[in-house]
Amino acid sequence: MNAKFAIVGSGPAGMYAADALLKSAPGCSVDVFEKYPAPYGLIRYGVAPDHYKTRNTSRQFARTFEENSVDFFGNVEIGKDISMAELREHYDSVILAMGAYNDRKLGINGENLNGVYGACAFVGWYNGHPEFRDLDPLLDKDGVAVIGIGNVALDVCRVLSKTRAEHDTSDICKHALDAIEASPLSTLHMFGRRGPIEAGFTPKELGEIRELEKCAAIVNASQLPNKVEGGFEGRTKGIKEKNLKILKELSDQNKPEKNVRMNLTFYASPIEILGTDRVEGIRLEKTDMVDGKAVATGNTFEISCGSVVTAIGYHTLPPEGVPLNGGTVANENGRVEPGVYVVGWAKRGPSGTIPTNGPDSRDVIELVIEDLETAGKPGGKEVDILLQKRGVRRVNFKEWQKISDMEYSRAQPPRPRERFTRVEEMLAILD
Ligand code: NAP
Repeated sequence: MNAKFAIVGSGPAGMYAADALLKSAPGCSVDVFEKYPAPYGLIRYGVAPDHYKTRNTSRQFARTFEENSVDFFGNVEIGKDISMAELREHYDSVILAMGAYNDRKLGINGENLNGVYGACAFVGWYNGHPEFRDLDPLLDKDGVAVIGIGNVALDVCRVLSKTRAEHDTSDICKHALDAIEASPLSTLHMFGRRGPIEAGFTPKELGEIRELEKCAAIVNASQLPNKVEGGFEGRTKGIKEKNLKILKELSDQNKPEKNVRMNLTFYASPIEILGTDRVEGIRLEKTDMVDGKAVATGNTFEISCGSVVTAIGYHTLPPEGVPLNGGTVANENGRVEPGVYVVGWAKRGPSGTIPTNGPDSRDVIELVIEDLETAGKPGGKEVDILLQKRGVRRVNFKEWQKISDMEYSRAQPPRPRERFTRVEEMLAILD
């Protein structure tokens, strides 16, 4: 089959889709488009830098790019450099895999104050995402309040609380490491509007905060139930039980020798971010749990802090012409319309780990193949001509590997890699 497929986004969902296309449609060609010169989306810009080994999944995806029938179109933005309609003209099917890289909003007063950051922006800052590299977050005062009790909230707190030595084996960007080290931060807060059992974090990630060199996690024992209740079963129940066990250990510990505190507070929902020119504090309302939902009690309290990071989930932002349904692309089992499909977080919202995207993408690719009636669109060769005419500097996979090699070679050991954080820096290596 000589079908031509375009995938928009080179993160896990897009790369699992590329792999599935190669297996399901031998003889096809797959062009993977990416807005930045660097591939792998969430693996590069979302995974915490101290979870460096998790980035190894990209090795598997590099092997996919090394297949002759797969081509990387880096530094090409769909909707700007080439439109969705043009992609459809050039490819037999288009698979959207652009993730959900936009922060959801709290919708409360004070959210626009200087010092309030969404997790996309904040994580993007320490991971050197070109769009957020210059975020320069306010870390000049003591106190950061992180909203949300999922794994992203834990990532942010953990990265902020680690010492330079603890970051030795991480690939956190130098600008962020220097800023964190220079910060007087000694109090971190994580606020969950629901309770410890409803929290989105998982035991491995929660357990890591027991091991921090200078930071002690503080949990109020009175907020912990004796056991997991609420009709959870199987694996989910197991996860909740393990979380509860770790939280109980944390509530029992006394670590006066550690000078940074990470307070985990449950049943507290933010209602206003306080300050005039910048964040000075946050007002929260205590909640009660009713039928699994957080219900306001009218009982409020305030804490002072210098910045707020919201880790409350993401929404997608597809190219023009693609229909939305809330925070995801409108679709039925991944089909947006015949010829256009969606996979990953853009399809189902921001949930699950990297491997969760494997079966999800494979299911959608089955639909793609079922729908494919004719093949005969021109594909990437003509797209290349179009991009050249428009003066777009497309980066191919070999060129990306050159940039990547430089990132390894310029790192100061023991740090494994020092990323380029600006598109111009990456292109300068090539031209
Ligand atoms: P998450 O687990 O869904 O956590 C989002 C948190 O935001 C929840 O505590 C949620 O509370 C809270 N929230 C949402 N709206 C809120 C509001 N208006 N006010 C206050 N709180 C609000 O999602 P995530 O942490 O963003 O992570 C996304 C996915 O990536 C998850 O599947 C996660 O496990 C995964 N991930 C995995 C790793 C890892 O494996 N190491 C690392 C990072 C992320 P409610 O529950 O009450 O809505």
